[in-house]
Amino acid sequence: MANSTPAPLSYAMDTKTRAEIVICGAGIAGIAAAHELAVVHGVRNIVLVDQEPPMTLTSDKSTEAYRNWWPGPDNAMVTLMNRSIDMLESWSDASANQFLLNRRGYVYATANAAKAEQLLADAALAETQGAGSVRVYRNSTQAHTYQRSAHRGFHDHPSGADIFLDQSSIRAHFPYLAPNITAVVHARRCGWMSGQQLGMYLLDAAKAAGVTTLSGRVSAVDTSGGAVSSVMVLGADGGEHTIATSTFINCAGPFAREVGALAGVHLPLFSEMHLKAAFEDTLGVIDRNAGLVILDDAQSLHWSDEEREELAADDETLWLTLPLPAGIHLRPEGYGHNQTVLMLWDYHSTHRYSVPIFPLEEDALYAEVVMRGMVALAPGLEPYVERLPHMYVDGGYYTKTEENRPLIGPTAVRGAYVNAAFSGYGLMAAPAAGELLAAHILGLALPEHAAAFTLDRYERPEYLAQLAAWGGTGQL
Ligand SMILES: Cc1cc2nc3c(=O)[nH]c(=O)nc-3n(C[C@H](O)[C@H](O)[C@H](O)COP(=O)(O)OP(=O)(O)OC[C@H]3O[C@@H](n4cnc5c(N)ncnc54)[C@H](O)[C@@H]3O)c2cc1C
Repeated sequence: MANSTPAPLSYAMDTKTRAEIVICGAGIAGIAAAHELAVVHGVRNIVLVDQEPPMTLTSDKSTEAYRNWWPGPDNAMVTLMNRSIDMLESWSDASANQFLLNRRGYVYATANAAKAEQLLADAALAETQGAGSVRVYRNSTQAHTYQRSAHRGFHDHPSGADIFLDQSSIRAHFPYLAPNITAVVHARRCGWMSGQQLGMYLLDAAKAAGVTTLSGRVSAVDTSGGAVSSVMVLGADGGEHTIATSTFINCAGPFAREVGALAGVHLPLFSEMHLKAAFEDTLGVIDRNAGLVILDDAQSLHWSDEEREELAADDETLWLTLPLPAGIHLRPEGYGHNQTVLMLWDYHSTHRYSVPIFPLEEDALYAEVVMRGMVALAPGLEPYVERLPHMYVDGGYYTKTEENRPLIGPTAVRGAYVNAAFSGYGLMAAPAAGELLAAHILGLALPEHAAAFTLDRYERPEYLAQLAAWGGTGQL
């Protein structure tokens, strides 16, 4: 969550100049890339351009959570996130945990007994892919060895996952969950941080290592002979800046597709609107030591017969009576006596935009729908449905590729790189993504998983076959 409004990027550029590297976008992706290039590799004369103050478009709307729990068809995402978490942990140690990294875990819950088998299979897969070992508890005696998460910090916690398959130990360890929950996966190398503090920590270090910031909009990327030659910026002062450079990095978040087009590069991206709500849990329903808790089941909202009939009679409100997607989630925000709880439910994810709209379209029902839905996960929240508390709603876009993997690396235009499509995981992926991107730019050895994230994956027949198996075409 944003702590305070950051100042715009300072304005320190002649109208015609030269840079080693120009980065478009001072969200977490651009800042982490600038940090890696300048602080780790000593690249000088990097210009970071943004029309907004840093970390204010999408990166401060995040739930700020991270996880290495990505059971998937291959280990690319687990490997990327494990590396990011290594980096986050080492920065946290180096900065006296300036950005409040914790290790509360992700708690996936289901009331569907049949789903427990799927959770076990996913966990076994995640374990083979590097997420850590799995501990299964089928009764309360076995669950005695379970180690709870600490309120703060991340040291001395297990990784992997604890899987609870009996309701009495679920009740004992997660008393706020609905009594019909039959299986819980507590994934452990997961938690959250202050994203804003992380961004400022990295940006300050990047600036100290010589990165220059420029307030303005990248309006053109010129190429000559198939290679980047200069970048045009419309400055916040109305002036036009031409920056001669051979390296341009597109970290434009929801505008990455448009910025790609400036360099003549088509990026197969779309954006989904995602909102979140924050409220004060004055009744103390949610355990302040809880992790990020997710209901893995589709669900229907509870209404009285009369309400249901009324809603179903109107085409505009009929959807409120139909089953809604799985994935409603919450987490406590803040430490000590803080009472804030964040809640998210992505029932909007079918709303796709090829050009994102700002300000976001309003959803006047979001707060109430999320609170109603949350009762299926944590029934103690029911009094808040009867008397809805003040809820602060904000949000942004998940900018995605079809298979929901990021784009990190070169494009067909020499010197034009992309570091975008970070969907709902950009804060957690940015450190390792910045490292991969720098390796591409500087011609360093690339790890095996790098190929899973480059744009040219869509030209590889074996990748297209894999994508087809996931139901995609790569043709957005
Ligand atoms: C509700 C919500 C919850 C989320 N929860 C999580 C979470 O728990 N964990 C997690 O890891 N991620 C989460 N995310 C995702 C995460 O916030 C994003 O993936 C991440 O912030 C993307 O960072 P970015 O730097 O790519 O984009 P942005 O933060 O959008 O930054 C892009 C920047 O580019 C600038 N820009 C664009 N075009 C131009 C131009 N032409 N010239 C100059 N500047 C330009 C913009 O002004 C902007 O500042 C969440 C997102 C949302 C919306």
